[in-house]
Amino acid sequence: LRERDSAKTRRFAERKKVSRNSNAAKDNEDVETLRKVSRQEYLKKREEKKLQELRDYIEDEHYLFEGAKLSEVEYCDLRHKKETYNILSKKELLKSVHNEYRIPEAFDDRNGVINQEKRFSVAMQRYTDPNTEKEEPWEEHQIRKATLKFGSKNKRRESDDYQFVFEDHIDFIKAFVMDGDKSDFEEEIALEKSRVKRSVLEALQEERKKLPIYSFRDELLQAVHDHPVLVIVGETGSGKTTQIPQYLHEAGYTKHGRMIACTQPRRVAAISVASRVSQEMGVKLGHEVGYSIRFEDCTSKKTILKYMTDGMLLREFLVQPQLESYSVVMVDEAHERTLSTDILFGLVKDLAPARPDLKVLISSATLDAEKFSNYFDLAPIFKIPGRRYPVEIHFTKAPEANYLDAAIVTTLQIHATQPPGDILVFLTGQEEIETVEEILKHRMRGFGTKIADLIICPIYANLPTELQAKIFEPTPEGARKVVLATNIAETSLTIDGIKYVIDPGFCKMKCYNPRTGMESLLVSPISKAAAKQRAGRSGRTSYGKCFRLYTAYSFLNDLEDNTAPEIQRTNLGNVVLTLSCLGIENEKLFQFEFMDPPPVEAITKAVELLYAQNALNVGGKLTKVGRRMAEFPLDPMLSKMIVASEKYKCSDEVISIAAMLSVGNSIFYRPKDKQVHADNARMNFHTGNGGDHIAHLNVYNSWKESNYSTRWCYENYIQVRSMKRARDIRNQLAGLLERVEIELTSNSNDLDAIKKSIISGFFPHSARMQKNGSYRMVKNLQTVYVHPSSGLTKVLPRLVLYNELVLTTKEYMRQVTEIKPEWLLEIAPHFYNPKH
Ligand code: ADP
Ligand code: MG
Repeated sequence: LRERDSAKTRRFAERKKVSRNSNAAKDNEDVETLRKVSRQEYLKKREEKKLQELRDYIEDEHYLFEGAKLSEVEYCDLRHKKETYNILSKKELLKSVHNEYRIPEAFDDRNGVINQEKRFSVAMQRYTDPNTEKEEPWEEHQIRKATLKFGSKNKRRESDDYQFVFEDHIDFIKAFVMDGDKSDFEEEIALEKSRVKRSVLEALQEERKKLPIYSFRDELLQAVHDHPVLVIVGETGSGKTTQIPQYLHEAGYTKHGRMIACTQPRRVAAISVASRVSQEMGVKLGHEVGYSIRFEDCTSKKTILKYMTDGMLLREFLVQPQLESYSVVMVDEAHERTLSTDILFGLVKDLAPARPDLKVLISSATLDAEKFSNYFDLAPIFKIPGRRYPVEIHFTKAPEANYLDAAIVTTLQIHATQPPGDILVFLTGQEEIETVEEILKHRMRGFGTKIADLIICPIYANLPTELQAKIFEPTPEGARKVVLATNIAETSLTIDGIKYVIDPGFCKMKCYNPRTGMESLLVSPISKAAAKQRAGRSGRTSYGKCFRLYTAYSFLNDLEDNTAPEIQRTNLGNVVLTLSCLGIENEKLFQFEFMDPPPVEAITKAVELLYAQNALNVGGKLTKVGRRMAEFPLDPMLSKMIVASEKYKCSDEVISIAAMLSVGNSIFYRPKDKQVHADNARMNFHTGNGGDHIAHLNVYNSWKESNYSTRWCYENYIQVRSMKRARDIRNQLAGLLERVEIELTSNSNDLDAIKKSIISGFFPHSARMQKNGSYRMVKNLQTVYVHPSSGLTKVLPRLVLYNELVLTTKEYMRQVTEIKPEWLLEIAPHFYNPKH
């Protein structure tokens, strides 16, 4: 090894032509000195080059954070000095670090610690003070200083570059100590060693013991034993989701084949957590540990721990109203307050008297547990103390016009200037994530090898499971991972190693106007509570930093304290249908004990619509149609469309359309460089049929004719993954048709029949063309437009029906189909004929 090292060093030195050192190399006397000196030469050049790059970069972008004074660099520098030369006492160290923030008010001399909260509040005051002008020179000074500081040689950067030069060297790990948290690092090494020695399973068991929840295991089990309902609160990552069901299993709650259900608001979380727990238990996913999400059941007779979406547990009530096969129901991520979670609260509470043996756990990541406790008749609250490192919060100095741009620039800025640690960026959805991923990749290619590797990991609901696992893979030495996530990473998934969070302050939110009955997905500002959760994601394994892409002023004045629960801003069609199936009808609906009741108009509107769809009768009771509709895990409009296809003898076609619509907007693929080709290919599916629904059907049928060929998909710019999912969903819908005794009949030539089935479900979604090419909704007269992705943008029909509305720059209709006015009167007389 020594020989190899010295040979390598010699080559390196020769290349650098540092004669003084090559002499030494010839003598081969002191390889160590040689390595250091030659390295320094090399580093100096590199440092200069990097500095120039950074300067250009900063000038280019005109973009710097208010708080980004690179104080972390200084901090590391100081820490390094302390660790290396032992010249500073802890107090001195903290004080000097603290002075960088220029907020001496927050430094407590008595015990030598910084009061983080005070510091934050002082900083906030300062940043939000309208007279900040006088602060300007100071800010500029800081920025300049930061820029210069970057060029000055400090140990941290040296070690970074050392990695760059001798990539396969063992010493690199040491370099990490300077930046990271020492004790953590040692733990990691110990763990790493134990990993090698022992089996993976044993290592996982070790990891389990290190979770904060572990020391409360027995206490927790006792509390579950003593109380029928228990509220559990603990910081994200403390081990609630993965550990509690296992503890309960170990304590015997799964005897006699009874199951433990753990609900998750998101399907990605259900899958990911189930997969983790199956590894920890050393069993195959789908055997003892399984998951159940809509259209995908990965459980078996053996299953005892079942992770499921909250919506699936809700559906379970339809099959077994007393949940006989479960011994424990854990409603996890309760703070998310999704629609299904809220309904579950009511149903579970109602169930308690009938099932005294059932244990109900309500677990949440936030501290507003009192509310849950009050709702569940003062159920005790079990707190798992958090373990989180301080997180530095940064705001932008001025509002950012484009948060995607800002997110990209910030990511690169962190990558170029900050010590190791992964980055988590919160975006609003798949499209944004894909855009950012593409741009980041492009920009990184531009940097070439001048900059360390950036591993980009997207995570969103439609991402294939194999790729989802990527976010949990440890980041290789010397590289940095950036996770581009939707809200899912706010509390549902814990990703280790995140040190930097970028929070643009937005998320996609469902909004519903009960007056018009219109629902749309809107990109909306998050709440203060959500911003806090997001920031917290960076402080799990060490000191973290959160970059908010909005101003402190905006945080204080524009953000709500909490997000309104979904139940208050959504269409309740599905809920009313489900509750009706459980016998909660008519006035009982209005008496149902909601934690936060929805607006009365929202319930009324849902009842009216279900009545117009023939799902409820005049007396508000469920009809046969309604009962059949409830069998489908779909929105009532889609289920009604399917049930109606019996009448029009086209169930075969209609379930294909329903399946394609359920996949979402990921069927067509439109690469940037081949948009014209892709658009032409897409238009081939629109041949004189007047609509996107039929085009979807054509896509499905052509794919089927190609024998489900992947190649066919490529040739037609269709995403094969989405098609496979559509096929799965279609198969399940076919099974459900059988269950409700509707025959599978094909009527592919009668497009009118297919359209009539669609209208039977979607009649409220009709719009008439205006003179200027816009549309106006027939019922409530709102102005809407045809989405550019529709095949109908060239020839606009007079009357159309759409699948959904999306609001971007305008209110757009997505998946649009031409219909005839007389059909509306024929199919939905209660809705459209005032005389009825
Ligand atoms: P909580 O529910 O309290 O937020 P979890 O039980 O989800 O906490 O997570 C506990 C630990 O398990 C975390 O440290 C996390 O990193 C790890 N973990 C959870 N899911 C996975 C996964 N799919 N892959 C790897 N690690 C995971
Ligand atoms: Mg959890």
